[in-house]
Amino acid sequence: MTAYDVVVVGARCAGASTAMLLARQGRRVLLVDKAAFPSDTMSTLYIHHPGVKRLAQWGVLDDVVASGCPPLATISHEVDGLRLASSVPTADGVSAAYAPRRYVLDDLLVRAAVAAGATFMDGARVQEVVRGDGRVTGVRLRVGESTTTVSAGLVIGADGMRSKVAELVDAPVVRSDPLASCVYYTFWQGLHTGFGFHEKVGRWIARIPTHDGLTIVAAYLPQNEFAAARRDPEAAYLSAVESTAPHLYDQLMSAERADRWRGTGDQRNYFRKAHGPGWALVGDAAHHLDSISARGITNALIQAELITDSLSGVDVADALATDEALARFEKSMNTALNEPYLSTLELAQLRPTKARLRMLHAVAESPELTARYFALVSGAIRMREFMTADLVDVL
Ligand SMILES: Cc1cc2nc3c(=O)[nH]c(=O)nc-3n(C[C@H](O)[C@H](O)[C@H](O)COP(=O)(O)OP(=O)(O)OC[C@H]3O[C@@H](n4cnc5c(N)ncnc54)[C@H](O)[C@@H]3O)c2cc1C
Repeated sequence: MTAYDVVVVGARCAGASTAMLLARQGRRVLLVDKAAFPSDTMSTLYIHHPGVKRLAQWGVLDDVVASGCPPLATISHEVDGLRLASSVPTADGVSAAYAPRRYVLDDLLVRAAVAAGATFMDGARVQEVVRGDGRVTGVRLRVGESTTTVSAGLVIGADGMRSKVAELVDAPVVRSDPLASCVYYTFWQGLHTGFGFHEKVGRWIARIPTHDGLTIVAAYLPQNEFAAARRDPEAAYLSAVESTAPHLYDQLMSAERADRWRGTGDQRNYFRKAHGPGWALVGDAAHHLDSISARGITNALIQAELITDSLSGVDVADALATDEALARFEKSMNTALNEPYLSTLELAQLRPTKARLRMLHAVAESPELTARYFALVSGAIRMREFMTADLVDVL
């Protein structure tokens, strides 16, 4: 049996960044993933300001830029006959957003974890947790044809929405909300549309430039249209783009589709209990929300920071101190991620409210308010900093 301080299960944005930060605290960390890395996953890739800020603080953003990922320097949003446009807000020394391919981003984070001293095993699937004295004390791993047992003071499940660790420890869902939207997306070569959104009742279209001159165009539809969209994704997607963003549709007609149709209707909205004796959850394993707001990567990076900050100075061999640290983590996570969760639930209804449209019309009158609106959308500022007295007066 091999012993570590912490085993992190799942090596994408949540797990690799958690492992990196824990290894930087001088801990013995094992990071495992059942996939062979570098590995892709379903995502429209956009990272909000708080995520980009953390990548910069951790020294990973330079590698993202060096990988050829284009900076997203401007943003636009078309809705209800309005076109709002602005620079991507500059804050905390960050002046652009990024949408790196996941086989680039997740791999860079794994490399940063290994550089910090973590041990990484891909092709290693957690099948069981090991228990002792009422606590999780390790995992049993399937690697190829063999099974290995690893002991650890703490097992962190960063293994996504269908988390095996959450299932094994029986982590209950403490809040859940109904499925709201579904999505189809693909990558296009030869689009020069920049970064932005188009919205109308029942439709949300996103265009997001990424590596290699490709642009993702994603079409969000109501959940009750998923069965029909699944039968013919191309028809559902193109009709959504044509009716919501006709100029973009015209450009798609002369661009080249560079990938297959990708989509899902399984966009759950929940918070799970994020810790227990000897275990914790981060990333989608702990909290999942509709991808329409593109918050999952950013939330994962925030959670990585919160759990490692909570554990700072705590010896994971000390059960009581570890449990207290994990309770602090869960509390801070719920506080930090509640506001984006609630605004995502509203956006995913695909029914822009009168109040929001009134706010957007008011914001469109002023470049300063427009810039502040996009700072809110990017996560650079919170609602209370956006909805200040001057805006309330205008409204
Ligand atoms: C259509 C769509 C579009 C999205 N667009 C965006 C976007 O634009 N921006 C954004 O921020 N977010 C987006 N998201 C959400 C984002 O992709 C996720 O929130 C993010 O990937 C979560 O990261 P994670 O590390 O928590 O989990 P995951 O990315 O799910 O990674 C979990 C890892 O755990 C591994 N694993 C699972 N089980 C085991 C096991 N038993 N043993 C070992 N390893 C295991 C898996 O192989 C996987 O690599 C989107 C999601 C979808 C579905």
